[in-house]
Amino acid sequence: MSNNSKEKIIELVGLTREFEDGMLAVDNVNLYVRKGEFITFLGPSGCGKTTTLRMIAGFDKPTAGKILLNGKDISDLPPNKRPINTVFQRYALFPHLNVYENIAFGLKLKKVKVTYQDSQGKEIEKIEKLSKTEINAKVEKALKMVDLEGFEKRSVSTLSGGQQQRVAIARAIVNEPKILLLDEPLGALDLKMRKDMQLELKEMHKKLGITFIYVTHDQEEALTMSDTIVVMKDGVIQQVGTPTDIYNEPKNSFVADFIGESNIFSATIVGDRKVRFIGHNFDCVDDFAINEKVDVVVRPEDVILLDKGEGQVDGKIINSIFKGVHYEMVMQVGKTEIVIQSTVERKVGEQVSLLIKPDNIHIMAKEFSTNKYDGYITKHNTVCFGDGEFECDVTQLYKGSILDEDGYLITEDGDKIDLTDVDVNVEVGLKDIEISDHEEDGGAVGNIVSMIYKGDHYQLIVRTSENEEDYVFDTEDTWNENDRVSVIIKKENIKLSLKQEIKR
Ligand code: ADP
Ligand code: MG
Repeated sequence: MSNNSKEKIIELVGLTREFEDGMLAVDNVNLYVRKGEFITFLGPSGCGKTTTLRMIAGFDKPTAGKILLNGKDISDLPPNKRPINTVFQRYALFPHLNVYENIAFGLKLKKVKVTYQDSQGKEIEKIEKLSKTEINAKVEKALKMVDLEGFEKRSVSTLSGGQQQRVAIARAIVNEPKILLLDEPLGALDLKMRKDMQLELKEMHKKLGITFIYVTHDQEEALTMSDTIVVMKDGVIQQVGTPTDIYNEPKNSFVADFIGESNIFSATIVGDRKVRFIGHNFDCVDDFAINEKVDVVVRPEDVILLDKGEGQVDGKIINSIFKGVHYEMVMQVGKTEIVIQSTVERKVGEQVSLLIKPDNIHIMAKEFSTNKYDGYITKHNTVCFGDGEFECDVTQLYKGSILDEDGYLITEDGDKIDLTDVDVNVEVGLKDIEISDHEEDGGAVGNIVSMIYKGDHYQLIVRTSENEEDYVFDTEDTWNENDRVSVIIKKENIKLSLKQEIKR
């Protein structure tokens, strides 16, 4: 790569867009784009991709931060003064114009600076429209680029979706922008067409040599096309890297989950390069502090299936489907389901064993700010989670709801809901857990497995014996490791949300 191609063409500095209703669509985004790069914003719908692109194009203004183009702040430059063109998902071609006229449309309005020499040899500048020959040449060049030579006279309404999208791209590149923005440009196409166009766009990027800033929610599309991927969530950049970086070394569980089909385990470091999940201490290659809570990512293709008793952890195959090249199987270990891909099928019901090699265990630091559990509501309106049962306030599941005397939940609209066995997400803060020496005091019982001094308090982990569920909390009291204790959580400190809407 030449030095030139490493120059930053665009820089986003603290870029922020808060909408009038308080929606923080883009939250302090810092990023640079290199000249000639193919960079992709990837994230779920609503994560702020379009808003970011609209600000780069100049259709929307940041509420804070700035956009630099070749080092100069362009935040106040109108869209038509920026050397940037955009291709949208809905390509908005003029239906009454033919292919040629659609592409030439912008050029006919365009005025360029021309310099002449007057009789004294002095240079004078004039603003002129492009000549017909110049327009012709530019349109032909753009059509060639998108492989639509000979389509000039065709009415756009007779073209296929893919062809229309190519016209839209030709219209964007005919102005010779330095930067092309593409907002889910293939979103309206069917799968086959999308795959073809992905390759064509990549080819076009090479031929044009300009900077592409691409937006998609499709991870596969991002992985195949980009030099650099920017993963976003809730207006915040999660990770920036090459497709291989992002795939192999996801920075957090959101990225891992979004990028591929992954197994993500909540795990604990239990020794020097030893990490514990699904009830086994696995050797790993990453160095983390003992007792640190981590997320472990294992790709389905990295789980090796062996006969029962021959691997690290035994379990049972509960599902298997043929996916064309490989089988995708689900193995159950305790309550955990593990997705495995292999060209060799293990039948449903078969007892097997899994093996994961140390360098296929990707460990990510967990920003541990709260305890999270999967739970369910009992018929007594208590909640079971973390190998325990606790009193809770179920009315928080529905805004404005109350409990009637029979224990049914009555919603704001007067609907009566039976919450028995309803699955919930449970959150408990680090400051909201107390422990007691008396087993009968709390809702769950376990042993203190870790006590770390954090400057002005201790962070403790109580682990239950049944399923090794952890309660992490801060306290100023000192305890002894291995003490058997019970976990007390006040009703008001148990935050509940529904896993899914209940059918009434
Ligand atoms: P994406 O392109 O990633 O799907 P958007 O950038 O379109 O996301 O939207 C990001 C968030 O900002 C969404 O929650 C969306 O509802 C909100 N949003 C977008 N445009 C507006 C607007 N004009 N007014 C208020 N909220 C908006
Ligand atoms: Mg969008």
